[in-house]
Amino acid sequence: MQVRKSAPRDRYQAFVRKDLMSLSQFHHLDPDERLAMLAVSAVLPFRTNPYVIEELIDWDDIPDDPIYQLTFPQRGMLPESDFDRMVDLIQRGAPSTDLKSAANEIRYRLNPHPAGQIQHNVPHYKGKPIPGMQHKYWDTVLFFPTQGQTCHAFCTYCFRWAQFVGIEDLKFSSHEADLLHAYLRENTEVHELLMTGGDPMVMRTTHLRRYIKPLLEPGFDHIRHIRIGTKAPAWWPHRFTCGEDADDFLRLIEEIRSAGKLASIVAHYSHPVELSTSVARDAVRRIQDAGGIIRTQAPIIRHVNNSASIWAELWTTQTALGCVPYYMFVERDTGAKDYFSVPLARVLRIFRKASRSVSGHCRTVRGPCMSALAGKVMIDGVTEVNGEKVFVFKMLRGRNPKWERKPFFARYSETATWLDDLEPAFGQDKFYYEDELQALLKNGFRQSVRGGKEIAHCGEVSRARRSV
Ligand code: SF4
Repeated sequence: MQVRKSAPRDRYQAFVRKDLMSLSQFHHLDPDERLAMLAVSAVLPFRTNPYVIEELIDWDDIPDDPIYQLTFPQRGMLPESDFDRMVDLIQRGAPSTDLKSAANEIRYRLNPHPAGQIQHNVPHYKGKPIPGMQHKYWDTVLFFPTQGQTCHAFCTYCFRWAQFVGIEDLKFSSHEADLLHAYLRENTEVHELLMTGGDPMVMRTTHLRRYIKPLLEPGFDHIRHIRIGTKAPAWWPHRFTCGEDADDFLRLIEEIRSAGKLASIVAHYSHPVELSTSVARDAVRRIQDAGGIIRTQAPIIRHVNNSASIWAELWTTQTALGCVPYYMFVERDTGAKDYFSVPLARVLRIFRKASRSVSGHCRTVRGPCMSALAGKVMIDGVTEVNGEKVFVFKMLRGRNPKWERKPFFARYSETATWLDDLEPAFGQDKFYYEDELQALLKNGFRQSVRGGKEIAHCGEVSRARRSV
């Protein structure tokens, strides 16, 4: 891949919906496209920056350019009747309060928190839920710092979109460093903290350090991995290359490594073009030089990366740069899903074809994988049993770890785009884990099993654990 020299940039600048009209590129669009963009961006979040616009999008190739599709709102992202309603309001010059209330009504219908994120994953401490944390798998806690509830640019397919649109009860964040540390101190089965967002790398390093540094001290020996989920290496690689705060972050990586813990940057790259600039490659090199490991992941998305050759190039480029391909995800059942989703059968064909065409070093990637209510469900293959064509699934992670790696089967479909669209195979009326899952959810806690010992994680169950 040819590497393009990047323009020097020392200051991040966000462009949001109100800036659309003043972008020179916006005026290259025809009037219908402009109106569509204004209508859709009134409902779904829009945010980008000059690096994405000037260095990642090929404006001679719109509307097909993948990064344009990934960042700029498109007409098909809203159901037709909702789209027409928003257009009508804009054309009539409706007051912003009318626009906002119509947008909110639509947002609540777009499954803003898929896979039970709010109801079922929130842990408890001293009997009270801890907002801004999720504890779905026994060894990993996700933390959503308040200062990290935005991104350097928004992906139009984002399953976290609800957190960016300004409705308080759709937000999911915490500024409680003390509560995070208290919870982690008590739950010694947790080995990994995953800082997520939005994008935690929008935060200044002083904030990141406030959450992470105490975990390097005695009392947190069980926390062995610090993981940061981020798209900054793709959307704003300057975060790692320019200025004192970039250097400070690299020092934080060194401090994590000096404490004998893993500093893992899980970088979200959707398309090889995101690694085609000199600044993107410098960012990778600097993180690695500081001792950080970069693993990579992304969902497979129609209009952006739904071809085997794109994934093969992505994995090959990442591996050559010393990154570790980690996950290919299936687009989640939220937001503009109908615009972006790819049928599971096709996803599997693309994954297999891409995997066959790359060397063994790139085959660290796992997937294709759905983050479903029960766990991370991998599409393992398609086969025929007693004349019935079926999908073979396995959970890579499960709310109950005993479910992991146990194959289960669904009737084959060419069109299904998510697990819930499928019927269990062989005349069964449910998948093997469903009764247990319902019991776990109904009891208001998650229960996990490690080494044969039952462990429970939240309020009431914390008390039970002490008596185990
Ligand atoms: S960077 Fe991640 S959290 Fe931010 S918009 Fe994209 S997918 Fe969503």
